[in-house]
Amino acid sequence: MKKEDFRAYAHELVDWMADYLEEKENYPVTPNIQPKDIFNQIPSSAPEKGESFENIFRDFKEIILPGMTHWQHPSFFAYFPANNSEPSILAEMLMSTLGAQCMSWLTSPAATELEERVCDWLRDAKGIDSNWKGVIHDTASTATLSAILTAREKATQYNINENGFNGNEKFRVYSSAHVHSSIDKGIKIAGLGVNNLVRIPVDENFAMIPEELEKAIQRDLKDGFRPLCVVSALGTTSSTAVDPIGKISQISQKHGIWHHIDAAFAGTALLLPEFQHHIKGHELADSYVFNPHKWMFTNFDCTVFFLREPQYLVNTFSLTPEYLKTQLDAEVNNYRDWGIQLGRRFRALKLWFVIRSYGLEGLREKLRKHLQLARLAQSWIESESNLEILAPVNFNTICFRHVDSQHSEEELNRFNETWMARVNASGKVFFSHTKLDGKYVIRWVIGQTDVEEKHVSHAWGLLMEERRKLL
Ligand SMILES: *Cc1c(COP(=O)(O)O)cnc(C)c1O
Repeated sequence: MKKEDFRAYAHELVDWMADYLEEKENYPVTPNIQPKDIFNQIPSSAPEKGESFENIFRDFKEIILPGMTHWQHPSFFAYFPANNSEPSILAEMLMSTLGAQCMSWLTSPAATELEERVCDWLRDAKGIDSNWKGVIHDTASTATLSAILTAREKATQYNINENGFNGNEKFRVYSSAHVHSSIDKGIKIAGLGVNNLVRIPVDENFAMIPEELEKAIQRDLKDGFRPLCVVSALGTTSSTAVDPIGKISQISQKHGIWHHIDAAFAGTALLLPEFQHHIKGHELADSYVFNPHKWMFTNFDCTVFFLREPQYLVNTFSLTPEYLKTQLDAEVNNYRDWGIQLGRRFRALKLWFVIRSYGLEGLREKLRKHLQLARLAQSWIESESNLEILAPVNFNTICFRHVDSQHSEEELNRFNETWMARVNASGKVFFSHTKLDGKYVIRWVIGQTDVEEKHVSHAWGLLMEERRKLL
């Protein structure tokens, strides 16, 4: 591409981007396509000769766009959101233009120092202990794996890093029965064996019962196991249940085991002082992760990982070969040593743009609006006969289902599954589901950047209409 053409195409794309953001709700939230529909439209071999940008962009619009799920659609109520926002998009444009690889201080001092500052900003705004330090990772999965590896190495004085497993280790990791699958994955990758993940029973609110954690640790100690780490959830993925962070921290402190707090989605709510009581007592924990790429209007990917004593993380990951050593290593943070990857994107830039553009006040206002819309939807569900909410609405996620006395539990599960599938097939909204105590429930997460009351009431109308048809 010629340099002068870049300018014209970039202007054209920016216009397209602005139009898309204005018109995004006119797209179906999910595409109506079959497997391989897109694959079969793409040639089976790469072009030998370069093609014009016009053709590439035309195919983007004609082939790719119809095969996209529109995560920024305000009626995207599924999973958890992966929100973007205008300031975040603009920062991504600058990031890709600079094309910097920010592995160490020297390879982009501003990237490292901005990362230090925005992590401190978020730590303080969320009420996390001011002695903790943060680092940006790609995803919560990676941060949690890093926490588990650090727990393993701290407990063994870095012996497994040095010598590998000797085959006699019997480590245990604890989490609630509702923990995210990324914990299972982390334990597998860390070589601990997923059968050594002990799932602690939960109470009627789906939160870990701390007395059961204590019992499990005692039992394991007696049986010759070595408790290594507990992962608590501040907002489980199923129902946004909150484990008792303070009590779990005390137990982990008492037994000298690592306590990692997974606040991937709901951690953003701690920007609101009224939610900070959830982490009371976290000062005794060891690490905490949350995803600005979910509910904090920052393009995927962007995860912030805080640690009480980051030197354990650095000791676990740093290995500085000669060609990466610099004269300033003692004075600066080289974030390559704070995680798995060597090469790093300049993700702090988009956080900086987002936080400055909204201001903490603007972020809080948006979150409060989402929470208020969720309370509104909750009140509609509660006032409707034959609907029930199966978990506390701790944030902006509502787990509900149709229930009646004519159907068995199995039939109810099928009914609710069909109901959700019909509503989603409209292409106008997108819900996802979970199972709570074996019961199929629809999860309604009201947290897309631009969601308004009209989107929530439209979704409610669709839900009620499809249920009427089914009954
Ligand atoms: C989404 C989520 C994760 C995984 O996040 P990634 O950034 O996609 O790895 C982990 N834990 C919880 C509680 C989540 O909601």
